Amino acid sequence: MHLKSLTLRGFKSFASATTLRFEPGITCVVGPNGSGKSNVVDALSWVMGEQGAKSLRGGKMEDVIFAGTAGPSGRPPLGRAEVSLTIDNSDGALPIEYAEVTITRIMFRNGGSEYQINGDTCRLLDIQELLSDSGIGREMHVIVGQGQLDSVLHADPAGRRAFIEEAAGVLKHRKRKEKALRKLDAMQANLARVQDLTDELR
Ligand code: ATP
Repeated sequence: MHLKSLTLRGFKSFASATTLRFEPGITCVVGPNGSGKSNVVDALSWVMGEQGAKSLRGGKMEDVIFAGTAGPSGRPPLGRAEVSLTIDNSDGALPIEYAEVTITRIMFRNGGSEYQINGDTCRLLDIQELLSDSGIGREMHVIVGQGQLDSVLHADPAGRRAFIEEAAGVLKHRKRKEKALRKLDAMQANLARVQDLTDELR
């Protein structure tokens, strides 16, 4: 599985449709300060379901929609943002019967939004479930933002272990284990209560 392409339309500084194609290997996006390099990374996390405006470096979610540019060659604001991510799934890493999967997220300035998998409207949950076991998607440490490397390097051993566990997918199982242990505790308490009642009735 690898990312094949990313298309932005009306997303942040990308007013016109812009497609980035990712070849196997390393892709570098270079450009002057403020030219939109981080906006490309924001588009990646947004299309994969990011729900926090702050994580997308904005104040509110609508800030991802192209807000217009000033000046003689300026452009008016747009009413919607759309990002599509195409993933090569020829190895079947994503649990879906397609060799190529395109996920799309659209947001309208009036607050409405839409998600699609291969052109079919779906729920955010469908996208999250599709991506969750593949190691990509929200909360997986596949996108390392500016400054984040510093926080990994300066984390204490417990913090660093948490990063590694999350990246390795262990955290999900640790949380499930904690939940199961809490249920087990509650069951033990119930059992003790039943035992008390049985003793009283004897
Ligand atoms: P640096 O190298 O300094 O980190 P960068 O290339 O990563 O810069 P970005 O932070 O991706 O740049 O882009 C910032 C630019 O995007 C700014 O010029 C900002 O005005 C523009 N921008 C952000 N949101 C919008 C929006 N909704 N509409 C129009 N332009 C936007």
